[in-house]
Amino acid sequence: ALPTLATCRLHHRAPGRGKLLTLSRMFQPQRLREDQVLSLEGRLGELTCKSQRLMLQAGLIHPASPGCYHLLPYTVRALEKLVRVIDQEMQAIGGQKVNMPSLGPAELWRATSRWDLMGRELLRLRDRHGKEYCLGPTHEEAVTALVASQKTLSYKQLPLLLYQVTRKFRDEPRPRFGLLRGREFYMKDMYTFDVSTEAARQTYSLVCGAYSSLFDRLGLPCVQVQADVGSIGGTMSHEFQLPMDVGEDRLSVCPSCSFSANRETLDPLQTHCPACQGPLTETKGVEVGHTFFLGTKYSAIFNAQFASVQGTPSLAEMGCYGLGVTRILAAAIEVLSTEDCIRWPGLLAPYQVCLIPPKRGSKEEAAATQLVGSLQDHIIEAVPGLCGEVVLDDRTHLTIGNRGKDANKLGYPFVVIAGKRALEDPPHFEVWCQNTGEVIFLTREGVVELL
Ligand code: ATP
Ligand code: MG
Ligand code: MG
Ligand code: MG
Repeated sequence: ALPTLATCRLHHRAPGRGKLLTLSRMFQPQRLREDQVLSLEGRLGELTCKSQRLMLQAGLIHPASPGCYHLLPYTVRALEKLVRVIDQEMQAIGGQKVNMPSLGPAELWRATSRWDLMGRELLRLRDRHGKEYCLGPTHEEAVTALVASQKTLSYKQLPLLLYQVTRKFRDEPRPRFGLLRGREFYMKDMYTFDVSTEAARQTYSLVCGAYSSLFDRLGLPCVQVQADVGSIGGTMSHEFQLPMDVGEDRLSVCPSCSFSANRETLDPLQTHCPACQGPLTETKGVEVGHTFFLGTKYSAIFNAQFASVQGTPSLAEMGCYGLGVTRILAAAIEVLSTEDCIRWPGLLAPYQVCLIPPKRGSKEEAAATQLVGSLQDHIIEAVPGLCGEVVLDDRTHLTIGNRGKDANKLGYPFVVIAGKRALEDPPHFEVWCQNTGEVIFLTREGVVELL
């Protein structure tokens, strides 16, 4: 006999299959109306942008305090997927993942003078013994001190590429735009150690290549621009910018050659391309990544050395590379979504498929509900990778139309509906391919094949 929704649910609780995800149980403190969102933002004194509004409305994030958000189940799933793609890219170039403490002892930050230079952006605190710390806004000090403590580092172990994905803390003067500019946010930060300037330059282009590949895979049209080194320092720096109206950075782009730069670096009076003299055009962008060629600025302070081929101690040549992980999530939603409906990069969608069975009490209910149960089994058997990627909208007191609207707003790449045509022989499901806008009718086998 075909399983019913209820037996299907039990079935999926069996060990190893994962629980069947039902929307009625999903924690989405949610579906804020426009006026509720506005009043939340009013309370927080924030400006609004599309991704912030959509994420609040759909119950993906919830405000905690200015610049700090609760990340709710859908967002955490997208975040974990993004971290997996980042891990693949970083490990493909030899990156080793670490996890450094968020508490940064003041003496490390005094050694580089950044305890003072960072000013009020640095969140500071004291422990019970009166010892001072900051909550890490970035980790050049920590990682260089860590590597310096390895007294037996040899040239044979370089290049060394260490990275982490952790929360960063910055007392931003104007936290706003939701996850685009928080006071507490996730960053991927990589630090590289090389034997020579030449080797460090090669590592620098390797990491920039990995960043380009990451943004290509996410389908985000980033531009790499020349940038200012700011308080991090070093001699060369690039930003990965995603052009969009809510961007707080101004970019100068040359339409005739590949030159592009953040305006901050450029002479304010510069109107023509320094490379080809053509007129420059201006766009706004959101900085999603930043790379720095550091040289020995930090290794000299902490004495991060390795034994060279000749056996003499030499200072490591460093680079550091940041990606705004939570910022990328919001920026992706900002560029891909419509005013009302969230769209995700395919790789990051929290769930790939939403199944919508018929309304309770409808004439399709009996037949189509069973079909949905067996379809779900089939999908998971035929495409094991989708196990855990399928949610069932079991709020069958709502019409298919209303649940379809919600599914459209949340942006599942595929929505599979058991409506009237489920009663045909063979039964057909309505399938929305939300990233292409196509609507098609498919048999059970057709759905499985499509997925
Ligand atoms: P911005 O110019 O936007 O303030 P930044 O130049 O200060 O950013 P970096 O020190 O270069 O930031 O940090 C590396 C990356 O961390 C940035 O490219 C960005 O993607 C991300 N990031 C920085 N600040 C924030 C923030 N307040 N909220 C979310 N992500 C951030
Ligand atoms: Mg900043
Ligand atoms: Mg910047
Ligand atoms: Mg930056």
